[in-house]
Amino acid sequence: MDTQIKSFQVGDAWRSGQDGEHVIVSINPADGSIAGKVARATPEDVDNAVAVAWDAFRNQPWRRLRPDQRATTLYEIGRRILLEKDALARLQMADSGKPLKECVNMVTSAAGHFRYYAAVCETWQNEVTSPRGEYFSLALAEPFGVVACITPWNSPIMNEAQKAAPALAAGNAVLIKPSEETPQLAIELARICAEAGLPQGLLTVLPGLGEDVGAALVKHPGVRMVSFTGGTETGRVIGSIAGQRLIPVGLELGGKSPHIVFEDADFDKAVAGVASGIFGSAGQSCVAGSRLFVQKSIYPRFIEALVERTRAIRVGMPDDPGTEMGPLVSRAHRDKVAAYVDLARQEGGKVLIGGGLPEAPELANGWFYMPTVIDGLSNKARACQEEIFGPVLVALPFEDEADVITQGNDTVFGLAAGMWTGDYARAWRVARELDAGSVWINTYKQSHIATPFGGFKDSGIGREKGLHGLRLYSQVKSLYWGMHEKPLSL
Ligand code: NDP
Repeated sequence: MDTQIKSFQVGDAWRSGQDGEHVIVSINPADGSIAGKVARATPEDVDNAVAVAWDAFRNQPWRRLRPDQRATTLYEIGRRILLEKDALARLQMADSGKPLKECVNMVTSAAGHFRYYAAVCETWQNEVTSPRGEYFSLALAEPFGVVACITPWNSPIMNEAQKAAPALAAGNAVLIKPSEETPQLAIELARICAEAGLPQGLLTVLPGLGEDVGAALVKHPGVRMVSFTGGTETGRVIGSIAGQRLIPVGLELGGKSPHIVFEDADFDKAVAGVASGIFGSAGQSCVAGSRLFVQKSIYPRFIEALVERTRAIRVGMPDDPGTEMGPLVSRAHRDKVAAYVDLARQEGGKVLIGGGLPEAPELANGWFYMPTVIDGLSNKARACQEEIFGPVLVALPFEDEADVITQGNDTVFGLAAGMWTGDYARAWRVARELDAGSVWINTYKQSHIATPFGGFKDSGIGREKGLHGLRLYSQVKSLYWGMHEKPLSL
């Protein structure tokens, strides 16, 4: 791996981190080697970046371009991401430890976000409202100015693109703070945007720590909107600062999603769907189906089949095409996941499979954890209520529809839910009752750029993706244009 320190750019100035102090070292979770080094931003860089962004917002033509003109640059960014797909996916794999095929999907999806919002720009419509007097009235979407985007480590480049593409499409200048665990892809994205012709200062990446750079961005008087994806507790801190500052936020937070199997489900598809819903991305997915509810009549048979499917999962090195599950992102995160499994044991849970590290010697230097299924807990147990964000599934039986709706909604989270059933009327009834921003019926964890995404309850505020994603980064200006024949009277 290239261990040269990657620089980042604030306006004309490059920050190289050459003094050694201001460097983030990204560790490859698969083998503990150095995946890359990146110059580390400081709160002073935040001040400079905000000033540069405002200068670009005010003085570059970007926000005044017609949306279809902005689309040209967004298309070009998408095209260039795809040209570099393989190299970006390999870098992503080294930074995050995700299997290569997942990384390829994420890079492709990042390109898709730019292409989608380019197309949205091409078809942009402001509203003409029905006048109630002698005037012409419009509702126009206007940018906020400078927006800050703070992202987690689990889907680098895709998360950054999910925020930057609509924010730029809406005419804003964007500052991105990627996770310190996976800082390299955002730097590459900034380079690609510049090479695609995005004017300088409209997208700046600040690879720093949340506690200083992230916090400084959220508090900065020049930042007019914050879009955050990450844990619920961090989201609460950011939301309260934004509340004090009276600036809008988009918060995409954690989840503990119920995944429901009714007795009339297609059994084999449900087993495969449940396994993929929790063990894909090694469970490091905000929408992971981490609480399994199976109807009592089929519970023993279903759990037995699920354990067998889990046993067959190939845990391995991310660059092996046969690998189904790679490592967790860091040693600290693996320790946290292992501690939750210990807690589940103390709470009375029975570990049916997994619950430890792999035995294969070639995986000994990475942060691997075996896919784990636990039953015997009550839905009130901490392991059933708190987000573990790892390959750990808790399984619970249920009686009937009413019971599973009550148990499924008995959580502070509301990000996603899934169900398997052959009864379409039931699917509709239950889907409408579940407190979740996304509900999957006879499938799980499907998502695409045109469908809005976000959470109910403590899983977030606002919706990304689709047309909602553009609205998140716009504010509405109402315009009345007088057509009066006579002067206005009092
Ligand atoms: P964190 O909340 O710890 O961090 C997310 C980002 O916020 C990081 O860039 C972090 O910086 C930064 N940050 C931390 N503290 C502050 C602060 N006080 N002010 C500003 N920024 C701060 O989440 P993780 O990175 O651990 O990601 C995992 C979490 O993300 C899970 O809970 C998961 O559910 C959630 N998530 C939600 C998704 C959704 O769409 N709903 C999608 C993906 C993940 P630093 O670099 O220092 O960590």
